[in-house]
Amino acid sequence: MFEIVFLGTSASAPSAYRGLSSQVIMHDEYRFLIDCGEGTQRQIMKSGLGFKRLNRILITHGHLDHILGLAGLLSTFMRWETIGSLEIYGGRWALERIHDLLFGVVLRGARPPIDVQFREIQPGLIFEGDDFSVTAFQVYHRGSDCFGYAFEEKTRRPFLADRADALEIPHGPWRRDLVSGESVTLPDGRQIDPDQVLGAPRPGTKVVHVGDTGRVEDLLGVCRDADVLVIESTYLQGEAEMAHDFAHLTASQAAQLAVDANVKQLILTHISRRYRERDVIAEAKSVFANARVARDFDAFQVRRGKMVKFDLQNR
Ligand SMILES: [Zn+2]
Ligand SMILES: [Zn+2]
Repeated sequence: MFEIVFLGTSASAPSAYRGLSSQVIMHDEYRFLIDCGEGTQRQIMKSGLGFKRLNRILITHGHLDHILGLAGLLSTFMRWETIGSLEIYGGRWALERIHDLLFGVVLRGARPPIDVQFREIQPGLIFEGDDFSVTAFQVYHRGSDCFGYAFEEKTRRPFLADRADALEIPHGPWRRDLVSGESVTLPDGRQIDPDQVLGAPRPGTKVVHVGDTGRVEDLLGVCRDADVLVIESTYLQGEAEMAHDFAHLTASQAAQLAVDANVKQLILTHISRRYRERDVIAEAKSVFANARVARDFDAFQVRRGKMVKFDLQNR
């Protein structure tokens, strides 16, 4: 299960209702902050999430509306030691700009209050937990080295307890070993193979996050069968030409990608102040019914094939 919390959903500049790009994706004890637009630290506080374990930051690209909040975040960490270290993942261009911001402007020769690690990424695996992974993939936007991120639970074979009961396999280490794919010898001498008690492989939950992008054709593969796709939607189809010129998407384009990639749920973000939210939703839904527009502090739990909105304050 993954949880997604939207902290900022506005494009380019904040509005009275929307902060700049930032969201948290959580899996068990792991938390990843994706992008950190201006004002993100206050959004973190308002959300009730707190800074604890928020030590991995994935950056989609180096535009200011996605990175300026890192300066405020680090300057706060200079006063409070909330976390011990910070890992910032991103493409070279983004990391160079963030380095200038943090070391040139915020620190100006001072020692960082916490260990700040820059992790320059290439397309491919960037993080692996026990039962999930995070993969980076290239997206097309203005500037080089722009990335999206795919969060995927590993494929699992479910343990069929009925079958284990029928085979009179005792509870305890034998079942545990079978679950992890090992053959066992029971106390009565019978040998049991995992295939006898494990079901067909079941793919895990998949959440894909795409930040700013001007193209969808190259995203089909990475978005394929995602349970949730979070993607920018800066323009509406009436201004498709402008979307193209600035390397952004229209709501229709994002929705068409969801259709083509067989995505189950689509969440649009990076919303421009020039449109009414309901017009963005209407355009997306005319192409893909399971579309919605994220608002700041929207929170979702995503399990294979299912997405449920939850209230952060009653967590
Ligand atoms: Zn942006
Ligand atoms: Zn951008």
